Amino acid sequence: MPNFIVQERDQRFLLFEVLNVQSLFSHPKFSEFSEDVASMVLDEAQKLATEVIYPTLNVGDKEGCRLENGQVYIPKAFHACYRAYCEGAWNSVDISKEVGGQGFPRILGAAAREWFSHNFAFLSYPDLTQGAAHLIDGFGSEEQKSKYLPGMVSGKWGGTMCLTEPQAGSDVGALTTKAVRQPDGTFRIKGTKVFISGGDQDLTENIIHPVLARIEGDPAGTKGISLFLVPKFLVNKDGTLGRRNDFEIGKIEEKLGIHGSSTCLINFGDNDECYAELLGNEREGMKIMFLMMNGARLGVGMQGVASASAAYLHALQYAKERLQGTSIERFKDPTAPRAPIIEHPDVRRMLIWMKSHAEAIRALLYFTYFCLDKWETAANEEEGESWRGLVEILTPVCKAFASEAGFQVADMAVQVYGGAGYTQDYPAEQFLRDARIAPIYEGTNGIQALDLVGRKLAMKSGAYFRGFLEHIGQSLGELEETPATGEIAKAVRKALGRIEESAFIFMQASAEGRLVVPLSYAHPFSRMLGTVVCAWLLTWEAAVAAKKLEEARSAGKALEVGEDKEAAFYQGKLLSARYFATNVLPQVEALFQGIQSQDLSAVEMHEESFA
Ligand SMILES: Cc1cc2nc3c(=O)[nH]c(=O)nc-3n(C[C@H](O)[C@H](O)[C@H](O)COP(=O)(O)OP(=O)(O)OC[C@H]3O[C@@H](n4cnc5c(N)ncnc54)[C@H](O)[C@@H]3O)c2cc1C
Repeated sequence: MPNFIVQERDQRFLLFEVLNVQSLFSHPKFSEFSEDVASMVLDEAQKLATEVIYPTLNVGDKEGCRLENGQVYIPKAFHACYRAYCEGAWNSVDISKEVGGQGFPRILGAAAREWFSHNFAFLSYPDLTQGAAHLIDGFGSEEQKSKYLPGMVSGKWGGTMCLTEPQAGSDVGALTTKAVRQPDGTFRIKGTKVFISGGDQDLTENIIHPVLARIEGDPAGTKGISLFLVPKFLVNKDGTLGRRNDFEIGKIEEKLGIHGSSTCLINFGDNDECYAELLGNEREGMKIMFLMMNGARLGVGMQGVASASAAYLHALQYAKERLQGTSIERFKDPTAPRAPIIEHPDVRRMLIWMKSHAEAIRALLYFTYFCLDKWETAANEEEGESWRGLVEILTPVCKAFASEAGFQVADMAVQVYGGAGYTQDYPAEQFLRDARIAPIYEGTNGIQALDLVGRKLAMKSGAYFRGFLEHIGQSLGELEETPATGEIAKAVRKALGRIEESAFIFMQASAEGRLVVPLSYAHPFSRMLGTVVCAWLLTWEAAVAAKKLEEARSAGKALEVGEDKEAAFYQGKLLSARYFATNVLPQVEALFQGIQSQDLSAVEMHEESFA
């Protein structure tokens, strides 16, 4: 089966030649991993993705989900996928070994998941289960762990994440679902949750719903929220399933894309009999849920990477095959043979834009996962804190920047296909529809930007942000000394300076009581930061590529592009970086001018004037 899903060579280059993830394998936690083992894992992921999961992308979209007599049915084709996925234990790669998971380094689990993320309607089921299992592993009592985790880790049971309510979307603190304390220490839940992915399905025999609710009498806002486990079927002491819990699926949403993912409205406790168990401490629900949400934000960023990669590879293949017009040299000759559209400079403009963005956001996501592993395996607290700082700053940017780029690349893929891209004869239109959800769920991109500006910049009195600037600044110092990347590294450094200046403008405006300035410019700032980090990572990659070409030349191997695949790959990396630095990075300057002006037209405009 050909691979039009992941830029496979780029993936391995990034892992093993740039980030050098091999350095993680010397840590006792990952001692059973090596480059060979990691390579084998990726080979297996590729096989499952291309042979089993990719073929269900379109049929899942066409069949969609249905609700019959209170039970949700998902696309039939997803059942075989799910079985193969669980048999390969892909559903537990990030879960700790102590509770039966695989305990992969995060970066390796993420790289494997890139292979599956192009079909995120399917992936929503095992991914949310893994996230819910993480919560129980991290915060559950021993009894809860032994009661729920074996079923979830094996894939026999599913899991979800129930935050959103009709009146409480971005504003989670406005939730009204209530929890009533019972004499035996358990609770009864009553309320309505909407948009719950995998809220019901016919894949697993039970579903464990982590539900945010407020215990009667607890304060309003996020501080009064607790987290509960609400199983679809109650679990008896001997592990068998008991009565059906008291909640109903009110409807499933008809959506723009990800039709194979069931998005459910759930009414909990219409008969006041919805059993629930507290997870963790009372009123710490938001803190606990953030653990799952941070992992899920990176997961949504990976959806952006996967959408971009798959849309790009499909468009590239089409551009090589579709004949239209003639080559530039013979454009006046009506008898000239028709040329594949990849020969036209304007099509190449689109292709290099897509390629550089797909590779840039892959680098952004993988680097952040790598920092997460470095944080978890750090030799001491100080070192751990420096990696943690990068994760904290980059997580909202990974979610927002990569999900937007994923959609934009999918959009450009449709353009490369021309009219064919707008039809259902090709997958480009589905990539576009499916990718549109990523900037919305897991906290909209507007909310991610507010998290970055309102919370992350000031975290630890600004130490994380300063550490972030220093980390990139130091790396740029080396890249400036490298002949192949000197010029572009200087441009990246100038843009990095604009980030620092913008943060200063926000700080000053806030100190003067003009909070409206950072609130108005949070999203442009988040885009600036994403663009600069991507430009830096592509420059780093270019320096490695230049070194590889130089080493090959010194060893007497005359690597010629056109004759040698590796030479072509490395040249592609050099040109991607140059393109991004010269054509995309300058946008940072334009965004900075907006911030510097502190123009508040949007805020000043009267509602009537918007007409
Ligand atoms: C397909 C799908 C699957 C989903 N899966 C799940 C799931 O599994 N579990 C779950 O709990 N939820 C899920 N959601 C819900 C999703 O997380 C919410 O839709 C999202 O958080 C936004 O909330 P909302 O739709 O109420 O929009 P709103 O909060 O009403 O936002 C509307 C607009 O206003 C902006 N906005 C709102 N408040 C502010 C503010 N304070 N400052 C600036 N801008 C603001 C937003 O950025 C957005 O642009 C899913 C949604 C969809 C569509």
